[in-house]
Amino acid sequence: MLCPCGSTQLFNRCCQPYITKQQLPGTPEQLMRSRFSAYATKQARYIFETYGGAAQLQQSVSDIQSWADECSWLALKIHQATTNTVDFSAYYLMNNILCELREKSNFNLEQGQWRYIDGDIIVNEEIGIVKRSELCPCNRYPTAWSAKQGKKFKHCCAK
Ligand SMILES: [Zn+2]
Ligand SMILES: [Zn+2]
Repeated sequence: MLCPCGSTQLFNRCCQPYITKQQLPGTPEQLMRSRFSAYATKQARYIFETYGGAAQLQQSVSDIQSWADECSWLALKIHQATTNTVDFSAYYLMNNILCELREKSNFNLEQGQWRYIDGDIIVNEEIGIVKRSELCPCNRYPTAWSAKQGKKFKHCCAK
C-alpha cells in the first residue's frame, strides 16, 4: 500500500513507523504527513497523542475518531514547510462532496518530540458534489493514494 501522505513510498516505509511509534518524526513536515496518514487510515489515537499538551486538553480521541470516520482523505499537498510550520492542503470527501482544507500549522518540540500546536485555516471549502458515474476525483491529484486508474467514483473512493 502506498503511503497516504503522497510521498510515493510504501506506507510501511514512510508514515506507518511513526503511527506505530517505532520511530519519532524528525521534522514538522514528517509529523504533519504522518498525522494526515493517520486521518486517512482512521487512527485517532495517534492524532490525539501528537497534539501539544495544551491542545490535548481540548480534544478527545472519540471526537477525532468521528471526524476521521466521516471523511475519506484523498490527498495531501505540502505547499511549504519551515522549521516550525507547514502550509498544506488536504483534499477530502464528506457525503460525496469534495472539499479542500488549506492550513498553515504550527509545531513545537515538547520533551524532544514534535507536536502539532494549532493552525490558521486559509481555505476550508467545498469544491463540488461528486456524481457516482463521474471520474473519481482522486484522479485529479497526483499525490492521491487511492486507485487513480481512471475509475468512476462509484467504483473507487465512493462509500
Ligand atoms: Zn507518508
Ligand atoms: Zn478514487
